[in-house]
Amino acid sequence: MPAALLTEEVIARTAPLYERVRRVIPPVEWPAFANDIDAILRLKRERNAIVLAHNYQTPEIFHCVADVVGDSLALAREAMTAEADVIVLAGVHFMAETAKLLNPGKRVLIPDLEAGCSLAASITAADVRLLRERYPGAPVVAYVNTSAAVKAASDICCTSGNARRIVEALGAPRVIMIPDEYLARNVARETGVEIIAWAGHCEVHERFTAAEIRELRSRYPGITVLAHPECPPEVVAEADFAGSTAAMSDYVGRKKPPRVVLVTECSMSDNVAVHHPEIEFVRPCNLCPHMKRITLANIRRALETLRHEVTIDPAVAAGARRAVERMLEL
Ligand code: SF4
Repeated sequence: MPAALLTEEVIARTAPLYERVRRVIPPVEWPAFANDIDAILRLKRERNAIVLAHNYQTPEIFHCVADVVGDSLALAREAMTAEADVIVLAGVHFMAETAKLLNPGKRVLIPDLEAGCSLAASITAADVRLLRERYPGAPVVAYVNTSAAVKAASDICCTSGNARRIVEALGAPRVIMIPDEYLARNVARETGVEIIAWAGHCEVHERFTAAEIRELRSRYPGITVLAHPECPPEVVAEADFAGSTAAMSDYVGRKKPPRVVLVTECSMSDNVAVHHPEIEFVRPCNLCPHMKRITLANIRRALETLRHEVTIDPAVAAGARRAVERMLEL
């Protein structure tokens, strides 16, 4: 919507929201967002809807229209107990599927059906069955970044925040962990459990290199480096701390390092920086093209048209739900 069509009322209603994000959104950009934000807030009330937004969403979504923000584990927990009639998932498709699995009576919408994930696309349920044949008796842990069909073919899910705990809780000497090879190798190093990995990678995190981290340390003396465990193990080895997006955010809030780099998707730093004006965030930028398919405009359209609704084959849903619920129980 062009800035010229902004009314005084919309400007006044959205002004408090702009205050939240003024550190990361220049004033000249705000008029491009204000009308959609105003419309989304109205539509949420009319539809009895909530927006769950992942930490990699852009600040105008994350800080201005989301009801709940977090990593995929936090969003899954919120989805399970949500009472709204409509859940809009501002994230990628597997997150919307997980929300539908955990709260099947709700209408779950994904604003763009093409918002996928390189990890989820790297493996099928047939691949999981082949792994089971090859490694009989080894339990299968599926990263939550997988389709419902892959979850259904697995024993239990995990996220980057709980992968180590889940693997240790299984008590098995050998575990199949799919599909993220780097997360699997990072967990193997931490636990000593023999991990059979799959060669899936996150197209965002695999681009970071150990040389890049060393270069950051020499250019920004004293910098604290936090890395996501989807990064290659040699990158994690160079970091001061490795953890999920929620764990990184928590680390920044607790330790308040004067200068920090979050080795993960770009928008994460913008979103955390909003709460910590005293901290210098260094931002090497790797964008997730899938997360960036979600925009204010398509969230608004989803609420107007109630599209695209996520459905799951009932034959798959029961098994996939069991794998997610086992994770949440642990
Ligand atoms: S950042 Fe990586 S793991 Fe997350 S949705 Fe994008 S491709 Fe998938």
